[in-house]
Amino acid sequence: MSKDITLGILYSGQLETQLIKSAKKIGGIKTIVLTNDKNGPAKHFCDKFICGNLSDRKLIKDFIEQIDICTYAFENLSYEILKTIASEKEVHPSPDTLKIAQNRILEKKFANNLGINTTDWKPVNSLMDLKEGIRLFGNCIMKSVSGGYDGKQQFRFKSIDEIDFKIDFNKEYILEKFLNFKQEISVAATRYKNGKISIYEPTENIHENGILRRSKIPADITKKIFNQAQEVTVKFAEKLKYLGTLNLEFMIDEKDDLFFNEYANRCHNGFWHSVNSYEICQFTNHVRAVCGLDYIENTKISNAEMINILGDEILKFREKKFKKNEFFFDYLKTDIRPGRKMGHITTLKD
Ligand code: ADP
Ligand code: MG
Repeated sequence: MSKDITLGILYSGQLETQLIKSAKKIGGIKTIVLTNDKNGPAKHFCDKFICGNLSDRKLIKDFIEQIDICTYAFENLSYEILKTIASEKEVHPSPDTLKIAQNRILEKKFANNLGINTTDWKPVNSLMDLKEGIRLFGNCIMKSVSGGYDGKQQFRFKSIDEIDFKIDFNKEYILEKFLNFKQEISVAATRYKNGKISIYEPTENIHENGILRRSKIPADITKKIFNQAQEVTVKFAEKLKYLGTLNLEFMIDEKDDLFFNEYANRCHNGFWHSVNSYEICQFTNHVRAVCGLDYIENTKISNAEMINILGDEILKFREKKFKKNEFFFDYLKTDIRPGRKMGHITTLKD
């Protein structure tokens, strides 16, 4: 495909902004953002910014007419809207893969059907299911099947006495056996139209209060875990016939066993360091793949650590002077809220 492409991007947050920066760097790609957030930071970078109510059919129709290809980096998009766009233009990653990522049960089933190891789990739809599950697993964690992020909508139990009777059982949940958690790692990979996969080394993620705080390469893991995590990621991308960048998240327990936890049907905060640590970052790889451009061999430039800047911490970073190996990203969000991801700093290391 020649490079004279209009790429439609749904939503307008920090990940979408970085996709636009990648499109600009590649060249020959015009970007049109469609969002319901008039303050979305992507508006400062895209070629055209369309803001309105996403359930407005005319708005969607206008967007479809103006674009060649559509992509996104936001998990809570409507499957129906994506399907409407996909009925006329290419949408990558496919709405069907997003549907799996939006549902923790479909995600775990998909992995287990491929023989990929996860912690023991069961669906919970009632108080009775929950009691049965706690008796079965003992120490466990219940998560809403869809809509949860940054540790939100999660409940820990060690015994049935700890059940909070305010839990809303009109929602669907998944109950998971709680692992003797040692570490979390994630792996990003980009799959191209010709089936070639560009894979990154595992990054180690450290959370604070359920929010990702730090991601670093190299991860402090064995070669066996390193290879296993990459193999599972490749298998996942192939079986989904995925197009673009995805990120798989794994937990490692005290016995050094690897468990698939969840996957992001998109570029992920945890691999943002690849903008500085690799020749081709996860965002550029994503844009290249969804636009049908050629796969290019990638190389790592440096070890790196990314630290997320939360809430009003951003204020001091906006004043700060940075060293040559430090790269500051301000997401340009207008509204500062406690725990909100406002930016990050990547430090390249030996
Ligand atoms: P989120 O969508 O909020 O990222 P996760 O499933 O990743 O939800 O859970 C958040 C964090 O909670 C994980 O990064 C991990 O540290 C911990 N966690 C989640 N599930 C388990 C589990 N089954 N056993 C041990 N720790 C877990
Ligand atoms: Mg997670």
